[in-house]
Order: sequence, then C-alpha cells, then structure tokens
Amino acid sequence: MNATVLVINSGSSSIKYQLVDPTDGTAVASGLVERIGEGSSLLRHIYGDLEVEEDNPVRDHAQGLRRVLDLFHREGPNLKEANVVAVGHRVVQGGAFFDRATVIDDDVIRTIEALVPLAPLHNPAHLRGIEVAQELLPDVPHVAVFDTAFFQALPAAASTYAIDREVARKYAVRRYGAHGTSHQYVSTTVANYLGRMDLRQIVLHLGNGASASAVVAGRAVDTSMGLTPLEGLVMGTRTGDIDPAAVFHLARNAHMSIEDIDYLFNKRSGMRGLTGQNDLRVIHSMAQNGDRNARVALLVYAHRIKKYIGAYAAVMGGVDVVTFTAGVGENDARMRELATEGLEYMGIKLDRSKNRRSTKGLRVVSKDSSGVRILVVPTNEEWEIARQCIDAI
Ligand code: ADP
Repeated sequence: MNATVLVINSGSSSIKYQLVDPTDGTAVASGLVERIGEGSSLLRHIYGDLEVEEDNPVRDHAQGLRRVLDLFHREGPNLKEANVVAVGHRVVQGGAFFDRATVIDDDVIRTIEALVPLAPLHNPAHLRGIEVAQELLPDVPHVAVFDTAFFQALPAAASTYAIDREVARKYAVRRYGAHGTSHQYVSTTVANYLGRMDLRQIVLHLGNGASASAVVAGRAVDTSMGLTPLEGLVMGTRTGDIDPAAVFHLARNAHMSIEDIDYLFNKRSGMRGLTGQNDLRVIHSMAQNGDRNARVALLVYAHRIKKYIGAYAAVMGGVDVVTFTAGVGENDARMRELATEGLEYMGIKLDRSKNRRSTKGLRVVSKDSSGVRILVVPTNEEWEIARQCIDAI
C-alpha cells in the first residue's frame, strides 16, 4: 500500500480524523468522535462502503482516540498494513513561531502551550490529542500543522495593528490569520490549474467560519482574520469586523461582562444573530418566503465580501483570480452572484449560467471575456495537512 498519513483534528469536544494518501488526497478512511465528555457521544467510522456508528459515552480524548484505534483494528483498514508514515495534527494557533508544519518535540509542545492565551479553547484540545496520539502511535513522527503558518510572514503593513507598540509586543497582539491550510491548498491548486505561479489571487473561504486572503505568487500578503478568527467577513455565528467600541458600549450600557460579549460576538452574532439561523440554505429559503431579516442578512454578508475583494485588489495592485471555497463558497451560487454583482468595472464578470451549473469539483464560473477569472475550488485541508507532513518528516 502507498504511504498514508493519519490526520487528526482534536477539538474541545470532538476528534475528527482521516487516513489520507498524500499523493492524490484519497481519504482511505475517515471518521469522528463527537460530544466527548457529554454522556451521549457519537462515533462514526467510514472505510470504503462501510459506515459504522456507535453512541457509547466517551469520557475524554484519551478514551476517544483509543476507540478510534479499536475501530481501525476491528473494521479496517489495519493501520500497520496501511503504511502510516506520519500523524498530522491540525493546530489552530502557532503564533509568531511557526511558518510551516513542524515535527513535534518537547519544544514544540511547550510553544503550543505558551500560545494557549491566544487560542484558549483550541490549543489545549490539540495538546490533549497530541499527547494521547503519541502514546498510542509511538512509532511514527507526529507533525503539527498550523492554521496560522501560511500567514506567519504577512508584510508588517498587514499584520500590525495600530495600537501602542509596547502593549502589542508584551501581549503578542497582531494579526495571525486562520484557515491558512485551506487558503494555501486552494491558492496552490489554482496556480497549478492555471499553470501560472505569479498570480494575484483572492481566496474566499466561506464556511461556517469565513475568511478572505490576498495571495501574490504563492505568498499571503493579507488576510481577514486577525488576532483571533473573529475579525473579517460575516460568519455563521461570528460578527466579523465590528467597531471595537461596541465592546465598551455594551459593557457600560448593557452591563455585559467580557465573557458575555465574547459569547455574543462569537456564538450569537453573524448570520445567526441577524436571522436566528446560521445555515445559508435555510436563510435563502427564509428570504424567498419574504423574511426581511433574512434578505438583509444576505446583503450584509455579500457586502462584506465585496469590500474585501475591493480592498485586496487595491493591496495587490490588481487581481487575476477570485476563488470561492468551503460550504458556502462551493455550493451557494446565489451568494457568488451577490458577492460579485457590480464588480464588472474591475474586470470581475461572473457567467450566470456557468455559475448555476451544479457541477462539483474545480470549475471556472467567469465569462470568457472576464479579465479576472472566477473559480470554485473544493477545499481539502486534510490533503494539504498530509502533504505538509510528508515535507516536514
Ligand atoms: P465548517 O466551517 O464548519 O467547516 P463548511 O465549510 O462545511 O463548514 O460550511 C458549512 C456551511 O456551508 C453551512 O453552515 C451552510 O451555511 C453552508 N452550505 C452548505 N451547503 C450549502 C448550499 N448548498 N447552499 C448554501 N450554503 C451551503
């Protein structure tokens, strides 16, 4: 069997995994453990046509990962025969320290630990996953693949916030970005597809979380997520850009605590805040049924994307390709229309009928006369993680 990489995404109450063939991205097997520690956990394991579900409680990450390895043992594929050459761990926050995937040693663990204040929910969960996985799979290298790495070398003009230098230095306040693995995968795929390495690209990753990046000749020069994934585009449940003074206003006048505001901005805002729903499929159907809030929310969402397209074209001195990816970007033809409407003067001309075709896979949705190509590219973060692991070991 070809070499494979086991990709693990260990979240605060879940573990997602995929056994990937790094040469072509095939998912040999995949699955997840959800609601760890909640008494009603769910395990799902997929291998070829086989799909197994179990709902026994899973106490913690150690037990969760042990159950995953049992499933591999029982249902296949046998991990020994699968020729696993590395385990890749997705890590949300690598701060200013990691600009690439890195083989995990004690120093790397200490640095991920030191970065917990910047990712208080994610980094501790990653560390638990890494610890258990290293114990259970001790014979292969474990590699940390950081969501921030692609943006680590942003130009200072893009990564620096205009606040007191000393405060920023002491508390590591700068723009780190997120979703880097997806932006890197998509921009590389586009460059290979068009056979040009010098492109000025805008990548729009529109999922439940959403972010935009500006990429010149394969290097990120700006991105919309900042110190945390809260900044930038309107998201499923997050505000995206908002005047920071909204925090002072709510604290003073609504007497909300920092925790209340954190929860409000991260969980009760974005499309959910505007409509009560965070799934764009539902919001489109609400809008079609005359719901005014839903209609306005879709316009707010599209308006923000449009602002970033304009801003990044200015930052790059022009744009060659705009690419849509992730759940909304890949599937929501109407949102692609709303987000590019009126940009014809910039050479961004969507072809409505190509855009409406329900093809899957990489596709061009701009008019032949469009100076800027508009593409839809399905993201594949697991494949990117697997490839980066191979480069790192
Ligand atoms: P995550 O950020 O959780 O990885 P995804 O990239 O899978 O999420 O995106 C999930 C979101 O994609 C859903 O919440 C929904 O809003 C949106 N989505 C998925 N399919 C469609 C569709 N056909 N039309 C519009 N939106 C869609």
